[in-house]
Amino acid sequence: METLREKIRQEGEVVSSSILKVDSFLNHQIDAGFMMEIGKEFARRFQDEKITKVMTIEASGIAPALSTAAVLGVPMVFAKKTTAATMDTDVYVEQVESFTRGTTYDIKVAKKFLNQGDRVLIIDDFLAYGHAALGLAKIVRKSGAQLAGIGAVIEKGFQSGGKLLRDRGIRTESLAIVERMEEKEVIFK
Ligand code: 5GP
Repeated sequence: METLREKIRQEGEVVSSSILKVDSFLNHQIDAGFMMEIGKEFARRFQDEKITKVMTIEASGIAPALSTAAVLGVPMVFAKKTTAATMDTDVYVEQVESFTRGTTYDIKVAKKFLNQGDRVLIIDDFLAYGHAALGLAKIVRKSGAQLAGIGAVIEKGFQSGGKLLRDRGIRTESLAIVERMEEKEVIFK
């Protein structure tokens, strides 16, 4: 998606050779209009997949997952990282390794929001090593729903997540694939 690559070139901050910061439109402030364009692009790519639900993890996955779900006309459900007093107790739980924090955390989804007949599209902001996506995929499998595919706004092609998911036969679509990052420059595939 050229408009996304251009936005990353203009607004992205290369924190290190492995971490990209896009706080101005995706990870802190959200460019709402641009997020709708992202949703339209994911919806276009997965239009033949008969998606019934979009799934993500709070917090940064919510914006692109919501815009995609809005275009597809289906609900969006996000896995929670913390347990609020109001959280259902009947939940699917998986452990996920955090790329940005170097720790592990549990993700939880109430069982009532995933059904056997669902065809689920997982959307996330970044694809690095694939831990978040695989954790969500495991929850989809546990629920008996079908995984239709995974969409990442930005894939870091030099980390192993994309290969891991595609080698498992999971359809994985990324709107921008970063080949490498040098000094202040982002080089795309
Ligand atoms: P993975 O589970 O694929 O290793 O990492 C994906 C998750 O880590 C994403 O949900 C994202 O929030 C975070 N992440 C991974 N790499 C980056 C990065 O370079 N920049 C930002 N902002 N988040 C990242």
